[in-house]
Amino acid sequence: MLQPKNLPTLEEFRADARQWLAGVASPRESHDNAWGEGSDSVALFDNLEHAVETELVEAGKAWERARFDAGWGAISWPIEEGGLGYPAIYARAFDEEERHFDVPRRSEIFEVTRKLIPPTILKWGTDAQKTRWNRAFLRTDEMCCQLFSEPGAGSDLAGVATKATRDGDEWVLNGQKVWTSGARFSEWGLAVCRTDSTVAKHAGLTAFMVPLDAPGVTVRPIRQMSGGSSFSEVFLDDVRLGDEYRLGPEGSGWSVALTTLSAERIASNDLGADAVPRMLALAKRMGVANSPFLRHATVSWWSHIRIHELNEHRVAASLEAGEEPGPEGSIGRLYCTQNLTRTGDLAAQLLGPRLVADVGEWGTYAWSEQFLGAPGYRIAGGSQEIQRNIIAERVLGLPKEPK
Ligand SMILES: Cc1cc2nc3c(=O)[nH]c(=O)nc-3n(C[C@H](O)[C@H](O)[C@H](O)COP(=O)(O)OP(=O)(O)OC[C@H]3O[C@@H](n4cnc5c(N)ncnc54)[C@H](O)[C@@H]3O)c2cc1C
Repeated sequence: MLQPKNLPTLEEFRADARQWLAGVASPRESHDNAWGEGSDSVALFDNLEHAVETELVEAGKAWERARFDAGWGAISWPIEEGGLGYPAIYARAFDEEERHFDVPRRSEIFEVTRKLIPPTILKWGTDAQKTRWNRAFLRTDEMCCQLFSEPGAGSDLAGVATKATRDGDEWVLNGQKVWTSGARFSEWGLAVCRTDSTVAKHAGLTAFMVPLDAPGVTVRPIRQMSGGSSFSEVFLDDVRLGDEYRLGPEGSGWSVALTTLSAERIASNDLGADAVPRMLALAKRMGVANSPFLRHATVSWWSHIRIHELNEHRVAASLEAGEEPGPEGSIGRLYCTQNLTRTGDLAAQLLGPRLVADVGEWGTYAWSEQFLGAPGYRIAGGSQEIQRNIIAERVLGLPKEPK
């Protein structure tokens, strides 16, 4: 892999990033701890009319394109593939700088398209596939979702039943996928399908890039308890694909999926960070100082928030030293999603009935969307139980769970 000729120091890089951001975006107004100012949304999933959500997605894409065209879209991507080839900590630093600016909010499909699918294609794709898709996904010209889970296969992903059967030069796909985040806004889906039922279940899988406008593909949005439809069911009925849509060798679908999932486990550990100053404002507003019970609950929550922040500093320090994060990397995602639940629980304690009854008061009922969204993140990208299993077996070296 080529190395960058003039790698700036992280501080120089941050200063350059800030300078570019200041030229194209306004600084983000800070409403930290201020009550009644700005939007009071702390939602984890969008709950918007389709037209409004479409507008938001388009604004997000326009921002990503501007960022990519200015050279900030492929910071830690290999030089041979058109990136800067900088260490991963630089891409993380750019995201941190970007958070101080008022740029379009982007839902989870942006992360899937930009951060999960391209590394998978980089590892498993042919040269033609890399050329066809990676720039388009890094620049969000086209979007791609993950067609992994099925009604009968989630934690046990190797149990997928969607079949891909060879028919001459083509493959014919039949089955159902579910919980597909961002399918409504995606042109493509990376699907794991069963191509051989005669071998061990992990060995009989193959991955395909599925054009979601192909005949036989039906995307049906699922309504969530928090409102909105961030994910969909995707039905594949006699979907015909040429062999050029197969990603990786036949039978390697399990390893292809693991490449995507390992990228997912290290992404998005800052979920819910925006809600922290809002929670502090809420706690003050609810007069926690006068209630030993609420004071204790708030300090306990704050301790967990700080522990997560400090752990993320350790992850950043490992990356800065050019090392793979160790145990701190494994617990980051779990701690982050646990904190979303802790945040929702504290909101419930502070607000009582105002969490469920909209009395029109700023900054109160809005927490119901956070509260109802948090359980989704206990499951997404591998449930908390599965993450604990991974930590137990791979980090703590405990005996493997019985199969
Ligand atoms: C917000 C959200 C977004 C998602 N986005 C996508 C997406 O874009 N694409 C996609 O393909 N999928 C997506 N999913 C699906 C997600 O990956 C699965 O829901 C998840 O892997 C769990 O699978 P399951 O729902 O089938 O539950 P199951 O696997 O049936 O698990 C049921 C319960 O049993 C527990 N359990 C299962 N096995 C074990 C075990 N070995 N040890 C201990 N406990 C166990 C689980 O923790 C869970 O509590 C999304 C899910 C959510 C909630």
